[in-house]
Amino acid sequence: CRKCLSLIQKTKFLNAYITVSEELALKQAEEAEERYKKGQSLGDLDGIPVAVKDNFSTSGIETTCASNMLKGYIPPFNATVVQKLLDQGALLMGKTNLDEFAMGSGSTDGVFGPVKNPWSYSKQYREKRRQKAQGESEAADCLIAGGSSGGSAAAVSAFTCFAALGSDTGGSTRNPAAHCGLVGFKPSYGLVSRHGLIPLVNSMDVPGILTRCVDDTAIVLGVLAGHDPKDSTTVQDPVKPFMLPSLTDVNKLCIGIPKEYLVPELSSEVRSLWSKAAGLFESAGAKVIEVSLPHTSYSIVCYHVLCTSEVASNMARFDGLEYGHRCDINVSTEAMYAATRREGFNDVVRGRILSGNFFLLKENYENYFVKAQKVRRLIANDFVNIFNSGVDILLTPTTLSEAVPYLEFIKEDNRTRSAQGDIFTQAVNMAGLPAVSMPAALSHQGLPIGLQFIGRAFCDQKLLTVAKWFE
Ligand code: GLN
Repeated sequence: CRKCLSLIQKTKFLNAYITVSEELALKQAEEAEERYKKGQSLGDLDGIPVAVKDNFSTSGIETTCASNMLKGYIPPFNATVVQKLLDQGALLMGKTNLDEFAMGSGSTDGVFGPVKNPWSYSKQYREKRRQKAQGESEAADCLIAGGSSGGSAAAVSAFTCFAALGSDTGGSTRNPAAHCGLVGFKPSYGLVSRHGLIPLVNSMDVPGILTRCVDDTAIVLGVLAGHDPKDSTTVQDPVKPFMLPSLTDVNKLCIGIPKEYLVPELSSEVRSLWSKAAGLFESAGAKVIEVSLPHTSYSIVCYHVLCTSEVASNMARFDGLEYGHRCDINVSTEAMYAATRREGFNDVVRGRILSGNFFLLKENYENYFVKAQKVRRLIANDFVNIFNSGVDILLTPTTLSEAVPYLEFIKEDNRTRSAQGDIFTQAVNMAGLPAVSMPAALSHQGLPIGLQFIGRAFCDQKLLTVAKWFE
């Protein structure tokens, strides 16, 4: 615990944490040590340092969503997943940085500033950059951590904790995992409770897990999974233990490669790594076939309509009365609402609220929202058809390329393009499937590249077993 705390201090410049709960962690560590001496361990996570994204409610610890709107908000309860970690004796090191309200894919848009990717400081990358761009400032080299759970990814990658919780609505756990060289797991929708996760898109949000290896993910998932009476969308079936067997019969596997995922924007390095990984399975005896997910091209637009519509409705609760920030204006209640929301939300959040309210207008509802729901069904059915045809697992890239420098990422034209970057991850959320991003190799610049495995709904264990074999 002390080692992790000192690493947190040493890596402060990464901006991975918003709040460090040092006192709590030290107290928990002491208690864990006592238990250990008495041989009374609480479970698999007893004494293990973990971090939690700052959009999960933590009792007595500020929970900001990296937004002015929630600065100073101290929830009176723990999110179910946080409580489950604590019940197992995990040590809570702190709350990690993110894009405001988890809207984004770079962890560049929170009110506490951007998260820096620890790989920006790797020897090989520094060396390459020096050769390439002499005289450029250090800031120009700093890479984004990916997002929106970039703080959690940077925290694990910098060894300040063993595992961290992220959230995943359209890729926010898998994307930063890919950019920071980690395992980033999105469970099936309904397997893990969302109670206490401040919602972005209720019908797609899931808590995600970031670790350095698949076995660690499986242990954390074993702790988190299961029905929660406080989240009616969680499954009732008792959850089987998540210890992963070794995969012995790779030759019985059928791996699908979706041809629509070979988009022109995909970097050549990711592309060749993708086919190399497919080859690896093939040479181990697996059947590798090309498959089609014909509605892929609608997924970004469909996600946008559904996401912003749910955002418009979700954000209505932040009115200056119940939580966090309230603007000091006493002309009228309406004026107070408006000023609070203008001050509280950044332009990304305000933009999504506006778009969502547009799609939900009486005259647009059928044409946009209802239509998007129908398209979502088609996208989900594409996956069902593939899995029903005998494919076990889909293998795809996680991101279009390795992490890009911060200054490049925030350029205006890149911002619009960055939505395209979620092409491999968002459809999975719309279909509620489990998926995991695995570190696959380093690029020629020495930066991590991730590949994604997608499984059938509630076959999370099988998915992780295959990922472990790949690892
Ligand atoms: N990048 C996506 C968005 O901004 C996904 C975010 C997420 O998964 N939280 O909506």
